Amino acid sequence: MADRHLSLVLHDVAPETWPDYVDFVAKIDALARRHGPIPITWLVVPDFHHRSDCRRDGAFLERLQSRRAVGDELALHGYYHCDDAPAPRTPRDWFMRRFYTWEGEFYALDENEAARRLDKGIELFRSQGWPLTGFVAPAWLMSQGARRALAQRDFCYTSDPQHLYTLPDFTRLKAPGLVWSARSAWRRGLSHLASETQRWRSRQAPLLRLGLHPVDMRHARVQEYWLAVLERLIHEGRHPITKYDWVTGQRRREQHAA
Ligand SMILES: [Zn+2]
Repeated sequence: MADRHLSLVLHDVAPETWPDYVDFVAKIDALARRHGPIPITWLVVPDFHHRSDCRRDGAFLERLQSRRAVGDELALHGYYHCDDAPAPRTPRDWFMRRFYTWEGEFYALDENEAARRLDKGIELFRSQGWPLTGFVAPAWLMSQGARRALAQRDFCYTSDPQHLYTLPDFTRLKAPGLVWSARSAWRRGLSHLASETQRWRSRQAPLLRLGLHPVDMRHARVQEYWLAVLERLIHEGRHPITKYDWVTGQRRREQHAA
Protein backbone atom coordinates (compact mmCIF):
# COMPACT_ATOMS: atom_id res chain seq x y z
CA MET A 1 0.00 0.00 0.00
CA ALA A 2 1.21 3.49 -0.82
CA ASP A 3 2.34 5.73 2.00
CA ARG A 4 -0.48 7.13 4.06
CA HIS A 5 -0.12 10.37 5.96
CA LEU A 6 -1.89 12.50 8.50
CA SER A 7 -1.75 16.24 9.10
CA LEU A 8 -2.37 17.76 12.49
CA VAL A 9 -3.82 21.21 11.87
CA LEU A 10 -4.47 23.82 14.57
CA HIS A 11 -7.04 26.43 13.52
CA ASP A 12 -7.47 30.04 14.61
CA VAL A 13 -4.00 30.54 16.02
CA ALA A 14 -3.65 34.03 17.52
CA PRO A 15 -2.32 35.59 20.74
CA GLU A 16 -5.83 35.27 22.17
CA THR A 17 -6.15 31.53 21.51
CA TRP A 18 -2.57 30.55 22.24
CA PRO A 19 -3.32 29.69 25.91
CA ASP A 20 -5.95 27.19 24.73
CA TYR A 21 -3.37 25.22 22.82
CA VAL A 22 -0.39 25.27 25.19
CA ASP A 23 -1.15 22.10 27.20
CA PHE A 24 -2.29 20.16 24.17
CA VAL A 25 0.83 21.00 22.20
CA ALA A 26 2.99 19.90 25.15
CA LYS A 27 1.17 16.55 24.99
CA ILE A 28 1.81 16.31 21.26
CA ASP A 29 5.49 17.00 21.85
CA ALA A 30 5.54 14.26 24.49
CA LEU A 31 3.88 11.87 22.03
CA ALA A 32 6.48 12.82 19.44
CA ARG A 33 9.26 11.82 21.79
CA ARG A 34 7.83 8.29 21.76
CA HIS A 35 6.69 8.02 18.14
CA GLY A 36 8.98 10.28 16.15
CA PRO A 37 8.31 13.77 14.76
CA ILE A 38 4.72 15.05 14.66
CA PRO A 39 4.95 18.30 12.71
CA ILE A 40 2.00 20.64 13.20
CA THR A 41 0.39 22.99 10.69
CA TRP A 42 -0.58 26.21 12.49
CA LEU A 43 -3.32 28.29 10.83
CA VAL A 44 -2.39 31.81 11.85
CA VAL A 45 -4.95 34.64 11.99
CA PRO A 46 -3.07 37.95 11.86
CA ASP A 47 -5.68 39.94 13.82
CA PHE A 48 -8.33 37.63 15.24
CA HIS A 49 -11.70 39.44 15.40
CA HIS A 50 -9.90 42.80 15.24
CA ARG A 51 -8.73 42.35 18.81
CA SER A 52 -5.70 40.06 18.77
CA ASP A 53 -3.05 41.60 16.53
CA CYS A 54 -0.05 39.25 16.15
CA ARG A 55 2.28 42.08 15.25
CA ARG A 56 1.82 43.67 18.64
CA ASP A 57 2.80 40.51 20.48
CA GLY A 58 6.49 39.83 20.11
CA ALA A 59 6.42 36.83 22.47
CA PHE A 60 3.70 35.21 20.37
CA LEU A 61 5.65 35.76 17.16
CA GLU A 62 8.74 34.27 18.76
CA ARG A 63 6.83 31.17 19.84
CA LEU A 64 5.63 30.63 16.31
CA GLN A 65 9.13 31.20 15.03
CA SER A 66 10.49 28.54 17.34
CA ARG A 67 7.80 26.08 16.21
CA ARG A 68 8.80 26.74 12.63
CA ALA A 69 12.42 26.08 13.54
CA VAL A 70 11.53 22.55 14.68
CA GLY A 71 9.70 21.71 11.45
CA ASP A 72 6.14 22.99 11.92
CA GLU A 73 4.30 24.85 9.17
CA LEU A 74 2.72 28.29 9.49
CA ALA A 75 -0.14 28.98 7.09
CA LEU A 76 -2.32 32.06 6.66
CA HIS A 77 -5.91 31.71 7.90
CA GLY A 78 -7.83 34.79 6.85
CA TYR A 79 -6.96 38.14 8.33
CA TYR A 80 -9.62 38.94 10.94
CA HIS A 81 -11.54 35.65 10.87
CA CYS A 82 -14.93 37.28 11.24
CA ASP A 83 -17.51 38.16 8.67
CA ASP A 84 -17.60 41.94 8.89
CA ALA A 85 -19.09 42.57 5.43
CA PRO A 86 -22.51 44.31 5.07
CA ALA A 87 -25.48 42.25 6.32
CA PRO A 88 -26.67 39.34 4.15
CA ARG A 89 -29.52 40.10 1.74
CA THR A 90 -30.64 36.73 0.40
CA PRO A 91 -31.94 33.70 2.34
CA ARG A 92 -29.00 31.62 1.14
CA ASP A 93 -26.53 34.25 2.29
CA TRP A 94 -28.34 34.59 5.56
CA PHE A 95 -28.07 30.84 6.08
CA MET A 96 -24.39 30.74 5.23
CA ARG A 97 -23.38 33.88 7.09
CA ARG A 98 -25.56 33.81 10.18
CA PHE A 99 -26.77 30.29 10.81
CA TYR A 100 -23.93 28.19 9.42
CA THR A 101 -21.17 30.53 10.58
CA TRP A 102 -20.32 34.10 11.49
CA GLU A 103 -16.71 33.43 10.74
CA GLY A 104 -16.67 33.27 6.93
CA GLU A 105 -14.47 36.33 6.49
CA PHE A 106 -13.74 35.70 2.80
CA TYR A 107 -17.24 34.55 1.84
CA ALA A 108 -18.68 37.97 1.07
CA LEU A 109 -15.55 39.91 0.06
CA ASP A 110 -15.11 41.29 -3.44
CA GLU A 111 -11.82 40.74 -5.24
CA ASN A 112 -10.27 44.06 -4.19
CA GLU A 113 -10.99 43.67 -0.51
CA ALA A 114 -9.89 40.02 -0.55
CA ALA A 115 -6.66 41.08 -2.27
CA ARG A 116 -6.08 43.80 0.29
CA ARG A 117 -6.45 41.40 3.22
CA LEU A 118 -4.35 38.71 1.57
CA ASP A 119 -1.60 41.25 0.98
CA LYS A 120 -1.69 42.35 4.60
CA GLY A 121 -1.32 38.72 5.65
CA ILE A 122 1.51 38.19 3.17
CA GLU A 123 3.23 41.25 4.58
CA LEU A 124 3.09 39.82 8.10
CA PHE A 125 4.65 36.56 6.91
CA ARG A 126 7.37 38.39 4.98
CA SER A 127 8.18 40.65 7.91
CA GLN A 128 8.83 37.54 10.03
CA GLY A 129 10.77 35.69 7.32
CA TRP A 130 8.12 32.95 7.21
CA PRO A 131 7.69 31.25 3.85
CA LEU A 132 4.21 31.48 2.41
CA THR A 133 2.73 28.01 2.01
CA GLY A 134 -1.01 27.71 2.30
CA PHE A 135 -4.05 29.93 2.68
CA VAL A 136 -7.05 28.45 4.44
CA ALA A 137 -10.18 30.62 4.34
CA PRO A 138 -12.02 30.94 7.66
CA ALA A 139 -14.86 28.36 7.71
CA TRP A 140 -13.37 27.28 4.35
CA LEU A 141 -15.58 29.81 2.57
CA MET A 142 -14.44 31.97 -0.34
CA SER A 143 -16.23 34.22 -2.82
CA GLN A 144 -15.32 34.04 -6.52
CA GLY A 145 -13.44 37.31 -6.12
CA ALA A 146 -11.47 35.89 -3.20
CA ARG A 147 -10.55 32.86 -5.32
CA ARG A 148 -9.30 35.12 -8.10
CA ALA A 149 -7.27 37.24 -5.70
CA LEU A 150 -5.78 34.11 -4.16
CA ALA A 151 -4.81 32.63 -7.53
CA GLN A 152 -2.84 35.77 -8.34
CA ARG A 153 -0.64 35.43 -5.30
CA ASP A 154 2.22 33.16 -4.39
CA PHE A 155 0.49 30.52 -2.32
CA CYS A 156 1.07 26.81 -2.74
CA TYR A 157 -2.33 25.43 -1.71
CA THR A 158 -5.74 26.10 -0.20
CA SER A 159 -8.27 23.68 1.27
CA ASP A 160 -11.89 22.89 2.08
CA PRO A 161 -13.19 20.21 4.47
CA GLN A 162 -12.64 17.37 1.97
CA HIS A 163 -9.88 18.55 -0.36
CA LEU A 164 -6.63 20.34 -0.82
CA TYR A 165 -6.25 22.49 -3.94
CA THR A 166 -2.89 23.29 -5.45
CA LEU A 167 -2.49 26.93 -6.47
CA PRO A 168 -2.76 28.86 -8.69
CA ASP A 169 -4.64 26.21 -10.70
CA PHE A 170 -7.02 24.93 -7.96
CA THR A 171 -6.23 21.31 -8.88
CA ARG A 172 -8.22 19.21 -6.46
CA LEU A 173 -6.58 16.56 -4.28
CA LYS A 174 -8.75 14.36 -2.11
CA ALA A 175 -7.82 14.90 1.52
CA PRO A 176 -10.66 14.23 3.95
CA GLY A 177 -10.62 15.90 7.33
CA LEU A 178 -11.91 15.22 10.80
CA VAL A 179 -13.32 18.22 12.59
CA TRP A 180 -15.47 18.83 15.67
CA SER A 181 -18.09 21.38 16.47
CA ALA A 182 -17.50 21.50 20.21
CA ARG A 183 -19.55 24.57 21.14
CA SER A 184 -22.38 22.66 22.85
CA ALA A 185 -23.05 19.20 24.31
CA TRP A 186 -25.32 18.07 21.47
CA ARG A 187 -22.84 19.27 18.86
CA ARG A 188 -20.06 17.40 20.64
CA GLY A 189 -22.17 14.23 20.64
CA LEU A 190 -22.82 14.51 16.91
CA SER A 191 -19.21 15.44 16.21
CA HIS A 192 -17.93 12.32 17.90
CA LEU A 193 -20.15 10.17 15.72
CA ALA A 194 -19.44 12.10 12.51
CA SER A 195 -15.73 12.08 13.16
CA GLU A 196 -15.58 8.34 13.79
CA THR A 197 -17.64 7.67 10.66
CA GLN A 198 -15.34 9.85 8.61
CA ARG A 199 -12.26 8.17 10.05
CA TRP A 200 -13.63 4.76 9.04
CA ARG A 201 -14.60 5.94 5.55
CA SER A 202 -11.22 7.58 5.04
CA ARG A 203 -9.06 4.70 6.20
CA GLN A 204 -7.54 4.28 2.73
CA ALA A 205 -7.19 7.99 1.94
CA PRO A 206 -3.58 9.01 1.25
CA LEU A 207 -3.93 12.00 3.60
CA LEU A 208 -6.22 12.39 6.57
CA ARG A 209 -6.34 15.82 8.20
CA LEU A 210 -7.16 16.43 11.83
CA GLY A 211 -8.58 19.96 12.13
CA LEU A 212 -8.57 21.19 15.73
CA HIS A 213 -10.10 24.38 17.11
CA PRO A 214 -9.43 26.36 20.30
CA VAL A 215 -12.87 25.45 21.66
CA ASP A 216 -11.98 21.73 21.39
CA MET A 217 -9.20 22.36 23.88
CA ARG A 218 -11.65 23.61 26.49
CA HIS A 219 -13.29 20.19 26.80
CA ALA A 220 -11.18 17.43 28.32
CA ARG A 221 -13.12 14.74 26.48
CA VAL A 222 -12.55 16.35 23.10
CA GLN A 223 -8.84 16.82 23.78
CA GLU A 224 -8.62 13.16 24.79
CA TYR A 225 -10.41 12.17 21.61
CA TRP A 226 -7.87 13.98 19.46
CA LEU A 227 -4.89 12.53 21.29
CA ALA A 228 -6.33 9.02 21.07
CA VAL A 229 -7.13 9.34 17.37
CA LEU A 230 -3.71 10.71 16.63
CA GLU A 231 -1.96 7.89 18.43
CA ARG A 232 -4.20 5.32 16.82
CA LEU A 233 -3.58 6.63 13.30
CA ILE A 234 0.15 6.56 13.92
CA HIS A 235 -0.10 2.97 15.13
CA GLU A 236 -2.04 2.13 11.98
CA GLY A 237 0.94 3.31 9.98
CA ARG A 238 0.08 6.89 9.03
CA HIS A 239 3.04 9.26 8.97
CA PRO A 240 2.56 12.78 10.37
CA ILE A 241 3.37 15.47 7.81
CA THR A 242 2.64 19.18 7.34
CA LYS A 243 0.07 20.03 4.69
CA TYR A 244 2.69 21.90 2.72
CA ASP A 245 5.10 18.95 2.64
CA TRP A 246 2.34 16.62 1.58
CA VAL A 247 1.21 18.89 -1.27
CA THR A 248 4.75 19.36 -2.56
CA GLY A 249 5.28 15.58 -2.35
CA GLN A 250 2.15 15.01 -4.44
CA ARG A 251 3.31 17.53 -7.02
CA ARG A 252 6.69 15.86 -7.31
CA ARG A 253 5.02 12.49 -7.81
CA GLU A 254 2.82 13.92 -10.59
CA GLN A 255 5.80 15.42 -12.35
CA HIS A 256 7.57 12.05 -12.24
CA ALA A 257 4.50 10.33 -13.64
CA ALA A 258 4.07 12.89 -16.44
ZN1 LIG B 1 -10.84 29.18 11.58
